[in-house]
Amino acid sequence: MALTGGCLCGGVRFRIDAPLVSSSWCHCTRCQRRTGTAASANGATVPGSLHVEQGEELLGAFVPSDDGWAKVFCTACGAPLWSEARDGSGKRGVRLGAIDGDPGVRPSARQYVDYAAVWDTIPDDGLPRFPERRPG
Ligand SMILES: [Zn+2]
Ligand SMILES: [Zn+2]
Repeated sequence: MALTGGCLCGGVRFRIDAPLVSSSWCHCTRCQRRTGTAASANGATVPGSLHVEQGEELLGAFVPSDDGWAKVFCTACGAPLWSEARDGSGKRGVRLGAIDGDPGVRPSARQYVDYAAVWDTIPDDGLPRFPERRPG
């Protein structure tokens, strides 16, 4: 059964036709800036499984000057949607908050905790914490 999701204004709608591979909380500085809050819950997709069903023309992307993944968002409402690798691998990390209902995975780690917002306390939830990117 496919997952569905979209942006805040409803202009962009997408479908993911394979279960998400894994999920993490990301505390990196880019996720803080991108979301305006302390951390972002992201889910790894199977390459090729995410399909835009509506609003392709509304998609914009912030492309970092280094080799960081492009951050795709809706240009009408600003909602973060997913990130995508720039190495042709087709890897995408979808923002869990963009998905309708249950994404079928739960965040199982916290990454970039060395960069966590000073004003927030990371919950004592037992999830493994990685100072930089989650390995694997
Ligand atoms: Zn939108
Ligand atoms: Zn991040």
